[in-house]
Amino acid sequence: MNRVRCLVFNAALGVLDYRVPDGLAVEHGSVVVAPLGPRQITGIVWEEKRLPGDSVPEAKLRPLLDVLPVPPIRAELRRLIEWTADYYCAPLSSVARMVISSGGALRGPATVTEYRLTGTEPDRMTPKRAQALDALQGEQATIRELAELAGVSDGVVRGLLNQGCLEPVEVDIDRPYPRADAGHATVELSEEQKAVSARLVDAVEAREFAPFLLDGVTGSGKTETYFEPMAAALRIELQVLVLLPEIALTEAFLRRFEDRFGAPPVVWHSSLKSTERRRAWRAIASGEAQVVVGARSSLFLPYRNLGLIVVDEAHEVSFKQDDGVRYNARDVAVMRARFEKLPVVLASATPALESLQMAESGVYEKLELPSRFGAAELPEIQVLDLTEDKPERGRWIAPPLARELFARLERGEQSLLFLNRRGYAPLTLCRNCGFRFQCSNCTAWLVEHRFSQRLACHHCGHEEQPPATCPECGEPDCLVACGPGVERIADEVAEILPEARVAVVTSDTLNTPEKAAEFVAQAEAKAIDVIVGTQLVTKGFHFPELTLVGVIDADLGLEGGDLRAAERTYQQIAQVAGRAGRGAKPGTVLIQTRHPEAPVIEALAAGDRDAFYEAETEGRRHAGAPPFGRWAAIIVSSEDEAEAKHAANRIGATRPHHDEILILGPAPAPMALLRGRYRYRLLLNARRSAQVQDVIRDWLGQLDFPRGVRVSVDIDPYSFV
Ligand code: ADP
Ligand code: ZN
Repeated sequence: MNRVRCLVFNAALGVLDYRVPDGLAVEHGSVVVAPLGPRQITGIVWEEKRLPGDSVPEAKLRPLLDVLPVPPIRAELRRLIEWTADYYCAPLSSVARMVISSGGALRGPATVTEYRLTGTEPDRMTPKRAQALDALQGEQATIRELAELAGVSDGVVRGLLNQGCLEPVEVDIDRPYPRADAGHATVELSEEQKAVSARLVDAVEAREFAPFLLDGVTGSGKTETYFEPMAAALRIELQVLVLLPEIALTEAFLRRFEDRFGAPPVVWHSSLKSTERRRAWRAIASGEAQVVVGARSSLFLPYRNLGLIVVDEAHEVSFKQDDGVRYNARDVAVMRARFEKLPVVLASATPALESLQMAESGVYEKLELPSRFGAAELPEIQVLDLTEDKPERGRWIAPPLARELFARLERGEQSLLFLNRRGYAPLTLCRNCGFRFQCSNCTAWLVEHRFSQRLACHHCGHEEQPPATCPECGEPDCLVACGPGVERIADEVAEILPEARVAVVTSDTLNTPEKAAEFVAQAEAKAIDVIVGTQLVTKGFHFPELTLVGVIDADLGLEGGDLRAAERTYQQIAQVAGRAGRGAKPGTVLIQTRHPEAPVIEALAAGDRDAFYEAETEGRRHAGAPPFGRWAAIIVSSEDEAEAKHAANRIGATRPHHDEILILGPAPAPMALLRGRYRYRLLLNARRSAQVQDVIRDWLGQLDFPRGVRVSVDIDPYSFV
């Protein structure tokens, strides 16, 4: 090749043509450095015919500068990038950027200087130094990272270095990972599990595209079962990707993985240190990384020879990314498996209706684990009608649930209370004048966090100190907390059961892998009697002594009533119920509700998942909602309210007319103000046969907007705010 077309990492430029100078060997997929004016830009060499663009005359072509020392991006992954950009109406370069997600990795092998404690005391001890010395025990990292770990400035860490308290260590960034061993510690599978794993092992060995829905009740041993096809892939030297919805779950998974395979897998998530990131990226690209466990972004990494993808808890909403490229990792995982010709397993106890429908129609092969492993039985589910059994004023735990909690404490068993609300109270108001604390950047109330003594917005991160007097009427001591959050429930438990050891588990308290590990260790050691948690505790955890689950407010998720509200409520409650009675002792679940007659509550109580899904499916079919029809949203925002409105109206006024697509809006978004931006939404409901992406592209492509206006497209949206 003497001229090439490059996809460059700049959404405005998109594709550029270059000349290949003599002596530079490039192929499709090569990652290259190219000149752009006086600057340099990174790009990927692409098939010219697949990227539209004007051909630049030979004489005007500038030469490429360099090829970066990483394996070329393979054709299968290039096709996935194209598919993702096309399907989600996103710029190709934004999708490609998710592949090249470590700038450092592109620079080739390298060493880095890290530092660790020497044990020497500084001549002069200061509080900051003491804090750092304490925090850095057993750590080794760069100056910057150590400072972050210890919560001190770089200067403090440098000071310790000058005092001889730290010593440098030269580290090969890309040192190899320990090897996982397929036969390290095999487990004896049950007959049910064997049948499923044998099918999956066959699929791995066949090296063909094969999508599976692994539908297994909570505690059925889905993990043990899919470990076998993972081992099969390792034996034939193929890589495995396991997608998990939440970093907090990774810890428990890592331990189980290490027990089974004798070494930890390679972990990928957004809070990796940059050196860990580049090490992982390079190992993935070279094929050295055998098993990668990661958040959704690990789906786009440049695996050299992938042999299996597992999406665990595949129903989870967090697989959907809601900014940047708005993709759903569950769906893109299936596409990746298709392009790469390999099996993909969607594992869940409460599959998404869309996934069940795919199994129903024969697109996915359904594998079932209908019973719990070993002697464990599914828990008994009872509904507690709050209109009859009222909690006392200012309390949220009804007497029957309190009695059950008490009985568990007596017997030395554990309980879990679930409420999907972080903080102490979702709303604070003035008793005197009725003033309500609202976020200045968002259409949202400020949530009181009593542990950290602040009022916080859960949408933009804005925080303020609760004032001593009402900001509106000036009255002192007049602020009251309205409604419960998990912290308030924990307080209530402490009142009912003063001896109980209570742990609050939310993304505020379990925000690092270390804290997650500590929580798991404490719960397993029975150092916790009652866990009060948000959706973070609904899945993945396995505590054999946990025999009671209380759902504080089953109606919470049904408010707002978006398309998936009932389904999500079903999934959350079934998942959290699944934490009870996983060991030898039977479990009980109490669901507190004001609507015991709601179909979703009745289905949960009867344990009749099929009936619930059937009714839900019919409802969706009737409404032309997914999976029978398709939704897409257009979200318009600007810091200037009039500008946002004007842009939304222009989009509305130029709407195309199409028999198969219904266009609703524009209307102010329910979250009319978010992070300081005013928002409007349009919603499209299309028949499956309609080419809704093409319609949107043509429609929006004709319009120009002022610089401050952002227009984003959300295909198959999960969020309707
Ligand atoms: P799920 O993910 O389906 O809820 P898990 O994979 O967490 O279930 O399994 C539940 C528990 O049963 C775990 O402690 C797991 O180690 C254990 N278990 C499952 N299958 C086996 C097996 N074949 N042999 C031994 N223990 C098993
Ligand atoms: Zn806010």
